[in-house]
Amino acid sequence: MRAPYLLSLRYPLPDLCSELGVDATTIHVWMRNGLPYERDARKHIHVHGRAVSNWIESVRCKSSPKKPMPAGQAFCLRCRQSREMSAPTQIYQSGKLRLLQSNCPVCGTKINRSVVE
Ligand SMILES: [Zn+2]
Repeated sequence: MRAPYLLSLRYPLPDLCSELGVDATTIHVWMRNGLPYERDARKHIHVHGRAVSNWIESVRCKSSPKKPMPAGQAFCLRCRQSREMSAPTQIYQSGKLRLLQSNCPVCGTKINRSVVE
């Protein structure tokens, strides 16, 4: 998700949703995960724009440490783990981009990896 452009002011929940283009449910999940918010006397939720930006930034840093996958491995969606590609076949090529396909040695699902050379 791109860093949202939010002003340093308090947004009522519906405004924040339209500003970010996300559902109120999403914001509630964020709040449960630590997004700071305020509730006024009428139980309306306000979120500070700056707090949202900072929170999204901090979560993003934690969840994507950007470690490149070792060569010869691909991510198996069924196992949710990277697996060794045995005898991968090239199924697509466009310029320097190649798409390799193999089968997961554990569950047999097709696994794909794109390689840029
Ligand atoms: Zn697998």
